[in-house]
Amino acid sequence: MSLFKSTLKQIQEAAEIMKLDQDIVTVLSHPKRVLQVSLPIRMDSGEIKVFQGFRVQHNDVAGPFKGGIRYHEQVDMEEVKALATWMTMKCSVVGIPLGGGKGGIIVNPKTLSKRELEQLTRKYIDRVQALIGPDRDVPAPDVNTNPQIMAWMADEYMKLGNLNKNGVVTGKPLHVGGSKGRDEATSRGGAYVLSEIAKERGIKPENTKVIIQGFGNAGSHMARILAEEGYKIVGVSDSKGGVYCEDGLDAPCMIKCKTEKGTVTKCETMYNHCESLSNEELIEKDCEILVLAALENQITEENADRIKAKYIIELANGPVTPEADKILDKKGIAVVPDILANAGGVTVSYFELVQNQNNYYWSAEKIQRRLKPIMVNAWKRVAEIQKKYHCTLRQAAFISAMVRLEEMLKSRGFE
Ligand code: NAD
Repeated sequence: MSLFKSTLKQIQEAAEIMKLDQDIVTVLSHPKRVLQVSLPIRMDSGEIKVFQGFRVQHNDVAGPFKGGIRYHEQVDMEEVKALATWMTMKCSVVGIPLGGGKGGIIVNPKTLSKRELEQLTRKYIDRVQALIGPDRDVPAPDVNTNPQIMAWMADEYMKLGNLNKNGVVTGKPLHVGGSKGRDEATSRGGAYVLSEIAKERGIKPENTKVIIQGFGNAGSHMARILAEEGYKIVGVSDSKGGVYCEDGLDAPCMIKCKTEKGTVTKCETMYNHCESLSNEELIEKDCEILVLAALENQITEENADRIKAKYIIELANGPVTPEADKILDKKGIAVVPDILANAGGVTVSYFELVQNQNNYYWSAEKIQRRLKPIMVNAWKRVAEIQKKYHCTLRQAAFISAMVRLEEMLKSRGFE
């Protein structure tokens, strides 16, 4: 099943539980606009190569479309449509005035030189510029895109005549209009939700083993934050493989080692009690909390039965398939869904946009002070809905989002 079909299934399931007006389901099942662009780039070798890019604008009833841009060899329109739909839901779960969008370019950026990467990024903005802007559609980083790429995007957009429209993208470096706290926001938001769950269910960090799949932006910040809170990080992985250390590992040292050596698999020798594992093996190891911070479709009907964690935190988008969800639910494993667990990222992106528009910048403390109640309230609302309908946390999060979307769509009119 394509990722977009999985998303539609999630919408339909939640809609049936809450008895949502079928017209709303129909509207939310179709992106408002999809765009595919060709991006010819002169490579360092002298040849012209044409890359394909996408931008999907799913729904903007709540405000400008908002969502990251993914650079990946396997990205396609169906995936971008799914990710854009989840963005609409995510913004609604946390109640921020933004809609859902997403973009992508089919490329492995690691195969490009810095010049080629910059050219490709600028060309993408040239092709989508008519559709984006701080009041229309605001891209951000996603897998394999970073603050430097956002700086090129903002610069290109402004060069194309949109003066002082720095808020066209978020996730920029601090010195060109970025927000404090954006780099760790996704993980910080997930950690706030986990803290609430821990409080409610008597989880003691010092007795709690955590495995983190994916050690990029989201995963490495989560490792640091949870280690600071006293959790015992026992396993981490990246695209090259995983490391499991039964007695725990030192998150800051692991982050330093990954930065220096490029992969956590070369850091195993830092400890004498660690074993090297494949990604597949790592997520099946013994732990209380499994943080998924890599890519989609990591837990499927193939491996769901072998998962031992009690809680799964989806910092990645779509890491658990709908079939796997059912198996995990039967096993009593609680999945904190992506549209709630990783919504801290888009929330601080919203803060960045607000700061850019006011040309006034907040301290890191202020960012955390404002992020925390948004995440905690979103969690409480989802938890209440879960109790009301006796459903999964994912279904409750979709219901939470769609209640708000229905109100907005009906007030504004959607025909
Ligand atoms: P990133 O590119 O910084 O990191 C991705 C990490 O996953 C890398 O360490 C990579 O090596 C690893 N990886 C890739 N395939 C893997 C596999 N099969 N097993 C284990 N590890 C693997 O990306 P990111 O920004 O950290 O995003 C990760 C996920 O979080 C994505 O699904 C993204 O959509 C989602 N997300 C990120 C943000 C954000 O602010 N960064 C916000 C919301 C959601």
